[in-house]
Amino acid sequence: MSTLALPDMNLLSKSGADFVDEPLFEDLLKRKADTGKIREIIAKSKNKEALTIEETAALLNADEPEIIELIFETARQLKEDVYGNRIVFFAPIYVGNLCINDCEYCGFRRSNKEQIRRTLSVEELHMQIRSMLMMGHKRTIAVYGEHRNYGPEYIAETVKQIYSVEYKHPKTGSVQSMRRVNINAAPLSHEGYKIVKEAGIGTYQVFQETYHHATYSRMHPQDTRKGNFMWRLDSPARAIESGCDDVGLGVLFGLAPWKFEVLALVSHAIYLMNHYKVGPHTISFPRIRPASGVKIEEVAKNNLADEDFLRMIAILRLSVPYTGLIITAREPAKIRDVALGFGVSQVDAGTVIEIGGYQNPGTVQQQALNREQFHIGDERTLDDMIRHLLNNGFIPSFCTACYRLGRTGEVFMEYAKPGFIQNMCTPNALTTLQEYLSDFASPETKAIGEKVLARELEKFKDEKKRRQVCDRVERIRNTSERDLYF
Ligand code: SAM
Ligand code: SF4
Repeated sequence: MSTLALPDMNLLSKSGADFVDEPLFEDLLKRKADTGKIREIIAKSKNKEALTIEETAALLNADEPEIIELIFETARQLKEDVYGNRIVFFAPIYVGNLCINDCEYCGFRRSNKEQIRRTLSVEELHMQIRSMLMMGHKRTIAVYGEHRNYGPEYIAETVKQIYSVEYKHPKTGSVQSMRRVNINAAPLSHEGYKIVKEAGIGTYQVFQETYHHATYSRMHPQDTRKGNFMWRLDSPARAIESGCDDVGLGVLFGLAPWKFEVLALVSHAIYLMNHYKVGPHTISFPRIRPASGVKIEEVAKNNLADEDFLRMIAILRLSVPYTGLIITAREPAKIRDVALGFGVSQVDAGTVIEIGGYQNPGTVQQQALNREQFHIGDERTLDDMIRHLLNNGFIPSFCTACYRLGRTGEVFMEYAKPGFIQNMCTPNALTTLQEYLSDFASPETKAIGEKVLARELEKFKDEKKRRQVCDRVERIRNTSERDLYF
């Protein structure tokens, strides 16, 4: 087995504090606010103001059906106000599943002998990315186990390799490449984050898994790198200090009680905001899925029922109005479809998490647990998913403009807050939708897509902007020009 030194705790961020105040959270979760107070909190969030943990706790404790309905309604409204009806698409690329850790819930953990271990060669990585480009993807997240073979230099190199792949469309002559490569990788030191930032990563995503100290210790053996709660908790702060200012937080729901985890997530967002003037770019909330060699009933002792899961998403929407919410294909289609309406702004589609599994665009792969990290719940292809969104009033978007124009971190927050985002995001959603329709859509998706595009273009109030967007859409339709963003 490969060895990696345990984390050096002298290398924490400048802020370096454990903000997870368990006694406070537990106390807050026992207090019930009166209906009048809860209505005031909901009104505050309607104004797009982030909520405190006390206010978040009040929403979590509310169990009257009409208040819960009001929370959903407000989440729907807020999502519309901040993000419009766009849904941004991405797909993960699993680069390698060697791992020195032994997380109880993960199929990649070192003691799982059933897992087939694999790391993509450069050629294989290129082939995988090419297959994803041939489906229409423009944004990916590269996922790695934790292993000495996957140090920051290796991650940086794979990111550069992903950016380098080009695919020329045989019919339209357009040239496709990944426009934003995010990573989901184990915590690094400042030096490591600088190296991956240099390679041009978009978001750095790291999930705390659980913020509950005792549960964290049970799930992550102490003699492993991941066993160090504080090294992981501090990693988003180190990333920001090193220039990776789009960070993605997350909890693996099912390990500890969900209301506790929501308070901790919101505390993490507030902590980053207070220290670095930038909150998390995204929050993810995977629920534990069956995985090879995982005793799911022993691990997922606090599994979340669907109705609580949806309520959790709505409450997060209210608490952190400017943070993108991601729901992955771990969840079944019926849950994803509902969540899209009141909180979620990013989804993956056509996802294959088997290493080297992207081969034949449009075909659903046979899932095999010993070759992947866990079972996915939504196997729809990208085209199916796009058609579904188009039929239900959403605009699918492949936009990657903000990151490429330097609208990240604190600057992104400035853009996001006054609601400017809609003026740039909707136009970019429409031009990238046209790219998808011209290059990759099935005839059925193309037909509905053209109608939606025409309808959305009519909605522009600013005539100059409408003309600019129409001009770009026409250029994409009639030439091989692509990537015309605002
Ligand atoms: N090795 C890196 C780490 O631990 O941060 C990143 C890669 S890991 C493959 C990505 C995420 O998958 C983990 O952070 C965890 O939340 C999630 N995950 C692990 N096992 C899972 C399971 N059985 N079901 C759903 N999600 C799981
Ligand atoms: Fe390794 Fe990450 Fe899986 Fe833990 S969650 S076993 S660190 S790949």
